[in-house]
Amino acid sequence: MLIKLLIANRGEISCRIIKTAKRMGIHTVALYSDADADALHVQMADEAVHIGPPPSKDSYLQAERIIEVARKVGADMIHPGYGFLSENAHFARLCEDNQIVFVGPPVPAIDAMGSKSAAKKIMEAAGVPLVPGYHGEDQSAALLKQHADEMGYPVLLKAAAGGGGKGMRQVHSSSEFEHALAAAKREAMASFNDDIMLVEKYLTQPRHVEIQVFCDMHGNGVYLFERDCSVQRRHQKVIEEAPAPGMTEALRSQMGEAALKAAAAIGYVGAGTVEFLLDTDGSFYFMEMNTRLQVEHPVTEMISGQDLVEWQLRVASGEELPLSQDELQINGHAFEARIYAEDPNNEFLPATGVLNFLQPPEESEYVRVDTGVRQGDKVSVYYDPMIAKLIVWDEDRPKALRRLVKALSEYRVKGVTTNIDFLYNLANTKAFKQAQLDTAFIDKHQSEIFLQNEDDLASLLPLAALYIVLNQEQGPQSLNSQDLYSPWQNLTAWRANATHIQGLEIQIHDQVHAVQVSRLNSGPQASYQITGQGFNVQCQGQVKGDVLTAVIDGHRQKITISHPADGEQGCSLYTQHSALHFKQKLPDLGLLDADAHGGGLTAPMNGTIVNLMVNPGDSVEKGQVLVIMEAMKMEHSLKAPSAGKVVEFFYQSGELVDGGAELLSFEAAES
Ligand code: ADP
Repeated sequence: MLIKLLIANRGEISCRIIKTAKRMGIHTVALYSDADADALHVQMADEAVHIGPPPSKDSYLQAERIIEVARKVGADMIHPGYGFLSENAHFARLCEDNQIVFVGPPVPAIDAMGSKSAAKKIMEAAGVPLVPGYHGEDQSAALLKQHADEMGYPVLLKAAAGGGGKGMRQVHSSSEFEHALAAAKREAMASFNDDIMLVEKYLTQPRHVEIQVFCDMHGNGVYLFERDCSVQRRHQKVIEEAPAPGMTEALRSQMGEAALKAAAAIGYVGAGTVEFLLDTDGSFYFMEMNTRLQVEHPVTEMISGQDLVEWQLRVASGEELPLSQDELQINGHAFEARIYAEDPNNEFLPATGVLNFLQPPEESEYVRVDTGVRQGDKVSVYYDPMIAKLIVWDEDRPKALRRLVKALSEYRVKGVTTNIDFLYNLANTKAFKQAQLDTAFIDKHQSEIFLQNEDDLASLLPLAALYIVLNQEQGPQSLNSQDLYSPWQNLTAWRANATHIQGLEIQIHDQVHAVQVSRLNSGPQASYQITGQGFNVQCQGQVKGDVLTAVIDGHRQKITISHPADGEQGCSLYTQHSALHFKQKLPDLGLLDADAHGGGLTAPMNGTIVNLMVNPGDSVEKGQVLVIMEAMKMEHSLKAPSAGKVVEFFYQSGELVDGGAELLSFEAAES
């Protein structure tokens, strides 16, 4: 067994790899950029070496420099994690040239999966099922259209060099074809400098089901079952699970065998993932093969009881696979939710800031938290804003889902906007409980996930109002104290001989809701009449620790609360069905919007400018999109913080920008 491992990565995945290496008695070396000098992965490793300034291109992507470091510290293997250099054939080749073991597949296997059309040709020859389509060399528009017509609409045009959904167009009829082809080619040319197109049958309700494969250097290969990653936003996975709901033994072994065939076709060694689209009739089609460990590998570990990083390190050291196919078994069900610093209500724009309070749910045999940050750490503009992966396991899907929902309601993150409430609402939809999964899941169930219907608000707003008045009366400090009835903590506005009516303004995302609260009696068992759009209810309640006990028109419920942190206003309530994040809108004393100007005009992370949406000097409204940029495979709109005008753009479309860079100068209109 090799004994000194350099991890060419950072954050969560570095920590994950270090844990296993330590258990195996392997000495670990971490890398760090200036931004990561005090990061958790640096602290966990036995050694750590500074690699450069914060932007990835100057640090974690510096292939030659990383090799130099590995040689200097005497590392005999390098684990690339995922992202960064994990699928970079040049880096794998450099490792080989320097007699350092690359924990990943051989160079030709990485190369083979680099182009979509080349990968499809290899898979077709190996007998792996492909989405019906054309991926030939002759690119004449007439021929492409003829293939589409024969296949029948809808079809999907895809750039051969594509990635991140770019250069991809759905075409619904023959008459739209030429126009769509021209647009897809333009986009592909701009993004990849290559406009070769594939034409595929467009599946209308596919699931994304992927198979984990593992091969060693001795000709053995196994599949560790499947993961369902259908719940996606803009082709990015949000919640993954294993096994795939509704999977039959027959289909599982067909897909597993197909994935092994795919791996064998390119002489694969190590951990790999073969991604398939699974159609409603049970047909499945090869999409791509990821030649690395996946972000979502923990769900496979939870149901198989195996440590995939250990397998990787053993295989890379030349050992045989630890188990054969018939020794592998599925036990129970697992979910993974990706906890991100991002704003789901603003097109998932990455958020940055200091994690001034961070309390994950308690870990156990059912709950696992893979993270690379601690309280007090900063989510910077330079890297993927993932805070953690929350993984849960139980004997079956319904039980595991209950664990997921509970753990999400217990996850406390303050200081940055997160997607936790979004994940909670998603996991609570009826369709998710019933496992009605396909890749359009989030679009289809938007109104439930984003609480866009009046009934949801009519049941949630009284709870928010009740929490606010209890908070006022008990005093914020007393909410966590045992002595709820201390006269010193009673801040009630109750007056003798008069009903006190209070108007509250409760802000949910951008909407402000007016709610009236009348106090009906006094004392510790005070009750309130709470009215607003679509509701008029009588309530009583009490807050103890993180639990609000609310009695609304005689219905008693216990609701988990995530209280606001010092200096913050936002608060979340988790009922049995939904999470509500709200703020009490306080009178504007001119202080609240102090930092609004200039906010959002810097790049939220490293990326590329896609489009400037206005001209310098144009008057714009608050919220109008000024710039579209692409980062982490997604497009993000940067909006005007107020009415005003753009004086100057500092970048043009197509240019790369570093996270934090100022993109434009903005002049707010006089109010
Ligand atoms: P990229 O490499 O650009 O991300 P992929 O080929 O991996 O593109 O496809 C990304 C996503 O697009 C898939 O996860 C799936 O949701 C959708 N998709 C791809 N091909 C098809 C198809 N033929 N029919 C329907 N959806 C598809």
